Amino acid sequence: MSRVALKGINKIYPGRGGRPDAHAVKDLDLVIEDGSLVTLLGPSGCGKTTTLRMLAGFEIPTTGQILIDDRDITTTPVNKRGIGMVFQSYALFPHMSVRENVAFGLKVLALSSAEVERKVDDILKVMDLSKLAERQPSQLSGGQQQRVALARTVVTEPRVLLFDEPLSNLDAQLRERMRDELRLLQQRLGITSLYVTHDQNEAMAISDRVVVMRDGIIEQDDAPNNIYARPTTAFVADFMGKANIIKVRAERVAADHIVAQIGGGSVELPTNGLELKEGDLIDYVIRPEQMLISGDGPVSSVIERVVYQGAYTEYQVSIDGQACTVVDYRHHMHDARPVGARLPIDLASSVPWPLAPAEAGA
Ligand code: ADP
Ligand code: MG
Repeated sequence: MSRVALKGINKIYPGRGGRPDAHAVKDLDLVIEDGSLVTLLGPSGCGKTTTLRMLAGFEIPTTGQILIDDRDITTTPVNKRGIGMVFQSYALFPHMSVRENVAFGLKVLALSSAEVERKVDDILKVMDLSKLAERQPSQLSGGQQQRVALARTVVTEPRVLLFDEPLSNLDAQLRERMRDELRLLQQRLGITSLYVTHDQNEAMAISDRVVVMRDGIIEQDDAPNNIYARPTTAFVADFMGKANIIKVRAERVAADHIVAQIGGGSVELPTNGLELKEGDLIDYVIRPEQMLISGDGPVSSVIERVVYQGAYTEYQVSIDGQACTVVDYRHHMHDARPVGARLPIDLASSVPWPLAPAEAGA
């Protein structure tokens, strides 16, 4: 059982040679529940690695506290934290067998050779590596090498596993396979994990919770589907894939929705509990695949560009002069439409998501 909590963490790297201080992480609060996998996601330089390194013990926070199961480990040495790291390059020893590579992880613990053998056998079995035990890394596929690297870390029975962009060196296909396998293993082992990536799809696919960071602060900390469908800021909406952000004027405000004119049609849009009043200008996030092309759709748009993508056709359209993207997965093989044509859109089954007015234009 291991629950991780970071409380009020700041990290300031002092400037050197005339360069200003770098405030890499700002007032960060984060909990990783026992057995769950939380991903830090954000663009380069937003503070992901710094956060992970503070949990590992390679950096000490400037202020704040780090707890594992309510024990303060803020300044505990790296090797006393019970933390396992999985690095980008697997760094397996090429001249050692799989068994020897995994046993190497136990070298630092003073164990009898019988104990080492038992622990290694157990973990090889759990990781489906028993049959490969006598091979050398060069005789393994990329996926098998990853499993050995993970086994070597896991055999030490860490309470927390840390991953810093472990898949970013791989080509797209392999990356997808490995991330699925990583997630399966993490769930099977039930080890509390912190994962760092700048890849939105990877984050959504493997995480219990995704924490989107920007300039050292947490923008949103939520389940993957909420991060995608219910972003709280324009930055998150944009970072999580193609998002249309449409400015809408509230004509009428009811208990849980507003009525507004979009593209010449009258539509109802949810308020998401926001305090809105008549005349407010609100940014609504609508994903391209949520804008359904439909003959009797009330929202009129005009096609400005057509991009054929094989599995779907992407239309860049204009709605009341606002640029939007619409994707057609259904009719596009035999029914591509030309630039200049009118494209009617139905929002009835879409999930338009309003940003709080303070966020408008952010
Ligand atoms: P990420 O992993 O999200 O790309 P980092 O945590 O590596 O971001 O970096 C966050 C910020 O802190 C960046 O502005 C980076 O330049 C700065 N930074 C990181 N490490 C150091 C360091 N050792 N000394 C000074 N500045 C650093
Ligand atoms: Mg990094």
